[in-house]
Amino acid sequence: MGQTIFVPRESDTTEPRVAASPETVKRYAGFGFDVVVEAGAGAASRITDDEFVQAGAKIGKAADAGKADIVLKVRRPNAAELKTYKKGAAVFATMDPYGNEGEVAAMGKAGISAFAMEFMPRITRAQSMDVLSSQANLAGYQAVIDAAETYDRAMPMMMTAAGTVPAAKVFVMGAGVAGLQAIATARRLGAVVTATDVRAAAGEQVASLGAKFIMTDALKDASGEGGYARELTEAEKKAQAELVASHIAKQDIVITTALIPGRPAPKLVSADMVKSMRPGSVIVDLAVERGGNVEGAKAGETVTTANGVKIIGHLNVAGRVAASASLLYAKNLYAFLETMVDKEKKSFAIDPEEELAKATLLTHGGQVVHANFKAAAKPAAKPAARKAAPKPAAAKTDKDAGAKPVRKAPARKPAAKGGKS
Ligand code: NAD
Repeated sequence: MGQTIFVPRESDTTEPRVAASPETVKRYAGFGFDVVVEAGAGAASRITDDEFVQAGAKIGKAADAGKADIVLKVRRPNAAELKTYKKGAAVFATMDPYGNEGEVAAMGKAGISAFAMEFMPRITRAQSMDVLSSQANLAGYQAVIDAAETYDRAMPMMMTAAGTVPAAKVFVMGAGVAGLQAIATARRLGAVVTATDVRAAAGEQVASLGAKFIMTDALKDASGEGGYARELTEAEKKAQAELVASHIAKQDIVITTALIPGRPAPKLVSADMVKSMRPGSVIVDLAVERGGNVEGAKAGETVTTANGVKIIGHLNVAGRVAASASLLYAKNLYAFLETMVDKEKKSFAIDPEEELAKATLLTHGGQVVHANFKAAAKPAAKPAARKAAPKPAAAKTDKDAGAKPVRKAPARKPAAKGGKS
């Protein structure tokens, strides 16, 4: 086919993941793509250059991006990277576009076709392409591992000749993809697990994992559109807070994962609730990048409160299990890209009107094409007054149909595994 795929080493040095795996490289090569992987791109995910070569890739350097028809990335390309891409190149990444409208416009201007993988519709046929799910699943797992490492007691009940160690009590708030995996992981470690959510449907899933579902009677169901939660009314928030306040004081570990599309993360754990917990208790706030569920949580830090409760606020939690996260992410990208390959002609082509492309394509043909960002990219001035460079309009609302808005990423700190932040 003669088309080239380039897989760079991520320019953000705190990002250990990589957008291809030996398995996906082999499949791309099988389609007839020339695959070039930047030297060391997989190192932080425990994939060696040799493994990529054995799968059919050539090892190259950053400048090889200029020859690529397709670039596979974890994060949005920065300005320096954009300059190296050829016009018309398709770039797949988690683009984090909300609050970054200027960067979206720059990708349009650079003439690339930028696909925001996090906008993949949550429909059955796109499940294998859903990066939010694959990464949230691992983040839910890792949240429990981080909590267990910080918690200075054993998790399972141990009956020994020297006495009995009680099982840790783990409370998971938000039983979506991350929360359900956190429940399963905590159960495997022997904890006694309770969980809450505002969607009634979550109750059955929680119970099927052997945990107890807790929900206030005042809140029947706050399911919103597309299987997501809606924001609670003030009365519902109050009822939920009362329930949580009485429950949380008895917990050893709390994992919070609650998110509402297009809104800041709901505040679920107040400073007073944290104060009611015993010294040595651990809270992991997985929503910290979207404003946090826990009062006092700090992005990228572990805070120890005056009463000895540790609040963990790691960023890029999936990146803390990078070797696993990269394999799943790479497969998500492959599953999507495959839909654009004509297997007979052995060629890759974008159909901007196709459902999945339409939902994810931010820029194409030199323009911002995604409905949620088109307005922001429009020149503020009339065509006649062309002297002033068009400035992107103010950040658009996060609300949209189908696509799940992502946080405006705060400055990232290294998510070094093992090290305590
Ligand atoms: P999410 O990341 O948006 O939110 C995490 C959880 O927080 C959700 O379960 C939500 O209900 C909960 N939450 C929100 N406000 C809360 C509050 N005040 N208190 C307690 N909990 C609160 O959600 P998600 O993990 O992306 O999953 C959302 C839904 O989408 C789930 O039902 C999931 O099964 C479904 N899903 C479907 C597909 C698919 O069909 N392809 C893929 C992934 C997820």
